[in-house]
Amino acid sequence: MKIGVLGSGQLGRMLALSAYPLGHQMRFLALSEDEPSSLLGKTFIHNNNPEILKNFADSSDIVTYESENTDVTIVNKINQNTKVYPSDKSLYISQHRGREKALLDKLKIPCAPYQMVNSLDDLKRAIKSIGIPSILKTATDGYDGKGQFLIKSEIQLYEAWENMSGVESILEGFINFKRELSLIAVRGIDGSLAYYPLVENSHHEGILRLTIAPAQNISESLQKRAEGYMSSLLNEIKHVGVLTIELFESDSGLLVNEIAPRVHNSGHWTIEGAQTSQFENHIRAITESPLGQTTSTKKFSAMINIIGVHGPIQKALKTKSAHLHLYDKEERTGRKLGHITITSNSIDDLNQSIDNLKEYLP
Ligand code: AMP
Repeated sequence: MKIGVLGSGQLGRMLALSAYPLGHQMRFLALSEDEPSSLLGKTFIHNNNPEILKNFADSSDIVTYESENTDVTIVNKINQNTKVYPSDKSLYISQHRGREKALLDKLKIPCAPYQMVNSLDDLKRAIKSIGIPSILKTATDGYDGKGQFLIKSEIQLYEAWENMSGVESILEGFINFKRELSLIAVRGIDGSLAYYPLVENSHHEGILRLTIAPAQNISESLQKRAEGYMSSLLNEIKHVGVLTIELFESDSGLLVNEIAPRVHNSGHWTIEGAQTSQFENHIRAITESPLGQTTSTKKFSAMINIIGVHGPIQKALKTKSAHLHLYDKEERTGRKLGHITITSNSIDDLNQSIDNLKEYLP
């Protein structure tokens, strides 16, 4: 099939790398010819030109997207003649924190206490009911911790609101979590579901740095609870493709923080660490094909992000059981340039390889 991707970053690149062995072709709707996916398929430079959008859609049998910040109106336009998976509903919900939380409430899935905020007065009221510390976040367009303000005392309230530049926001109670987890799953067109194990994520300055798969010391019942939340979400929105939920593990159990209607950075380990990667399973789902097995190839995997500078690449190549993935990007502070996956049947070997690559971990 001819698969079109809205966007052409590293996620599009890795989708392409898993789509070619299945005999598909790729197209990308990009901002420039100098993006990680550009050489991996026919690239259409968008420039808000309706003719180019039409050409892109006409040349694709099926269209998907690599970011929850994709313009829903573009998806709707394409959808008039070409199928888009996941649907505009998945996109519409996940690109607005308020809509996301409302869906979680509807499905009785626990999340942090929250209130929507549209003015300084709203914020004052919200602080009264939610308390301090709390986090003010923009309702849309936030990623990698951007558009957030941690309020530790009431005097910061004005500064926090100013920081939002007057845009619709959400105040969330601060969760004293034990660790951050995520769950990645895929739903096929026939409603079939497949889950990867819960993984543990470590962030620095809002950016994911390390994922351990599976997360250690997870009881079967906790995995099942997370899968239960996931299946409610997937079935409610009739999602087709990969969906990710980011969770906090707290003393009061699991709380869902965010939903991403796409392949996710915390699932990059699946390229070598699972029988079928998240990318291949997304491709399988959107091409209306049977899903692949999500069982792990080794007992343990780790994924280390390469952020800002490429660092000791030769050392990474020499590290035992390590696999290097570079995204063909220029170095820039805070930018995701690539990742390294390590797989092993021994936790000691895994930790040794992680330790060997500690320059990548702040
Ligand atoms: P987000 O953009 O919602 O994924 O938030 C980025 C990071 O901020 C998360 O990975 C957490 O480390 C932290 N964070 C977000 N929301 C909360 C919260 N309600 N309580 C505590 N930490 C949070």
